[in-house]
Amino acid sequence: MTEPLSSFRSPRFAQPPTFMRLPHSTDLSDVDVAMVGAPYDGGTSYRPGARLGPREIRSQSSLIRTWSYFLKVHPFERLRVVDYGDFDVPPIGIERAMDVIETGASAIHAAGATPLVVGGDHSISLPLLRAAAKAHGPLALVQFDSHIDTWDDYFGGKYFHGSPFRRAIEEGLIRRDRFVQVGIRGPMYGEDEFDFHRAHGIRVVDIDGVKREGVDWTIDQMREVLDGPVYLTFDIDSVDPAYAPGTGTPETGGLTSHEAQRLVRGLAGLDIVAADLVEVAPPYDGPGQITSLLAANLLFEMLCVLAVRKPRRRL
Ligand code: MN
Ligand code: MN
Repeated sequence: MTEPLSSFRSPRFAQPPTFMRLPHSTDLSDVDVAMVGAPYDGGTSYRPGARLGPREIRSQSSLIRTWSYFLKVHPFERLRVVDYGDFDVPPIGIERAMDVIETGASAIHAAGATPLVVGGDHSISLPLLRAAAKAHGPLALVQFDSHIDTWDDYFGGKYFHGSPFRRAIEEGLIRRDRFVQVGIRGPMYGEDEFDFHRAHGIRVVDIDGVKREGVDWTIDQMREVLDGPVYLTFDIDSVDPAYAPGTGTPETGGLTSHEAQRLVRGLAGLDIVAADLVEVAPPYDGPGQITSLLAANLLFEMLCVLAVRKPRRRL
């Protein structure tokens, strides 16, 4: 069993920061969950800075205690979790960057472990989906985001943080009618942005739906779509910039921190085979590093959700 450093033996603010003060290890034998950073933001279209996300989120995660009051689970009693460090993603050349991420994530899947990845911008989800689908076959997908990220290209490039899920569908990584987006909002270019959704069976739960019908209804919507092996991707800009200002393309009028926590918790029991949290850009964060603190807490919720899923056979 691997445990976070005890705060009764070592003060929370001491020692080099790892995620939740877990041991740093690149040995994947008998590991159930490998938390890993993918510090790449070459796919951003507006403000860069998400490459600095993993470091600051690790730092803010020092405060997180180890038991979930709401899910009644102590994830480290059920799962062997390590901080695997970061993928050494080259900061130039998005296709090379994606290769490094895919290779790194594939090694984690091959060891029978679940990658819990911290970005980085949303372009990292495409290589992560490639690796997960290689290990588990086509996936169901839940995406928390204010943006649809199914645009086609940008300045002639096929890969950036606004296109990963269109590419993933084109590559056959996502199952038809098993893709749900939550928190969509903000000014767009036109109704025809959703032609692709209609053609490929993507369900949208926009922010008005979440606010009008509530969190429990939204959880039902997600669970109706999600089935079989699930990939979870959480773009921090799904949360309102009042709670999460530290991001590159903020959209006003979003989820509260509390709604975000409850929505992630609502995925408990699903067969989540990989997860990421992306778009935290510490240079724009508010006082108290509130965005990174929220991100660290959402990663804890994800870990608890992984801890209560049905045991899966090792590959
Ligand atoms: Mn996104
Ligand atoms: Mn977004």
